[in-house]
Amino acid sequence: MLRIKTTALVVLAMCGCQREASEPRADAAPVPTSKSASTQPAADQPNPPTPNPARGIANMDLQVDVGGRRAIAELSFEPGAAGASCGFVADLELARVDHAGAKLPFRRDGDTLHLALPASSTLEQVRVEYVIPDVDLRLGWLANGSTLVWPDGCGRVFPCHPQPADGLTFQLELTGVPEGLTAVYPRQVQTQTPAYVVAWAVDEFTRIDLGATEAGTQIAAWVRPGEEAAAREGTATLRAGFEFFEQTYGAYAFGPEAGSVIVDWRGQAYGGMEHHPYWHVDVTELADQEVHLHEAAHGWFGDGVRIRCWEDFILSEGTTSYLSARAVEATSGPEAASRTWADFRDRLDRLQSGPHSKLAWFDGCNEHDVIADGLFRNAYMRGAFFLRAVEARVGRESLDAALRAVYQRHVGAAPAGVADLLTEIHTQSGYDPRPCANAWLRSETLPLSLDSC
Ligand SMILES: [Zn+2]
Repeated sequence: MLRIKTTALVVLAMCGCQREASEPRADAAPVPTSKSASTQPAADQPNPPTPNPARGIANMDLQVDVGGRRAIAELSFEPGAAGASCGFVADLELARVDHAGAKLPFRRDGDTLHLALPASSTLEQVRVEYVIPDVDLRLGWLANGSTLVWPDGCGRVFPCHPQPADGLTFQLELTGVPEGLTAVYPRQVQTQTPAYVVAWAVDEFTRIDLGATEAGTQIAAWVRPGEEAAAREGTATLRAGFEFFEQTYGAYAFGPEAGSVIVDWRGQAYGGMEHHPYWHVDVTELADQEVHLHEAAHGWFGDGVRIRCWEDFILSEGTTSYLSARAVEATSGPEAASRTWADFRDRLDRLQSGPHSKLAWFDGCNEHDVIADGLFRNAYMRGAFFLRAVEARVGRESLDAALRAVYQRHVGAAPAGVADLLTEIHTQSGYDPRPCANAWLRSETLPLSLDSC
């Protein structure tokens, strides 16, 4: 099933939960990189702007004036050596950058911002005030002021570290929302999570209450006029599926309320994006229960457990694809799950007959580009079938125990890689899944059967 239009811009090919996507067009409009470097007049800071991409961002307090197209991001940089760097696309206009009550010298280098932040053993606050020159799909802003940034495009909307391992907590406030529209976004997230989790949607939303899980999480959907009937169909299993995740893998980490927000990516991208606690689902998937469950599952893997490197992408997308099929079974029974797996098999077979590499798990750490190098392409289905094969080998209980252990060890804490899950499966079951992982994830061919592990 085509999930990305071939005419989509590069930025729009970055759909979090796209399925097997076509290659973004080679001549698609690129993310702007050419604006000349600019600097702010030096103040009393002793250091010149110094690249230091290793200095993490621990917290962000982001205030966005949607109507006025201005924003203020207050970033808390972690202790570290002199300098700091973050992604920030050239088309966003910097109004000023402050640190400790004074202007902080900076240097723009394409889509990266370097700061003259002094070395420090404590958190350092930097205030970045900027102007959004135009609402532009290229920049990750939809016409109504909603965001579209996944997976590594956060710098199109706010200064950030796009690498998934750098978890941050955040506070968010939107003002200037046009009369008659509603902004749906979390006011705060206190669990360390990747920058791609930060998002908002602005539209004519109505909240549909879908009830509470046994653990007390309120589940809801936000829909626009005319969408309620289809949204109720698509989210009919969402509360129960969410409860399945809570009871099987552990407590939800993104607050007391969660749910699907229906957005319109205007035919450029499809699927959903894991912006917990209010993840986005494109209107074309409104009635698809599996998509809503897949996005919900990212609260556990991808958002709750951050991946260490883009090369570990299957720990996010493969695991959530597997979990969504499990949630279909838990909420709708084995026949419905069989239909989901048959759909997955069709998708896997289409990828297998396609022209691209079939690999799903790559060597290195952030040495590949998640989109340009195709890390995303096979992660979903190869990852799901690998875990299904492991389940067939070690039993559902052992696999769930391993997933639960990885989640509970890493949620909001240190990031995890595919190798951590393989080690935990070995620990829980006594079975070493590495040869099977190589067969499913690192081979151009497919194993002949599910009994391949
Ligand atoms: Zn996904």
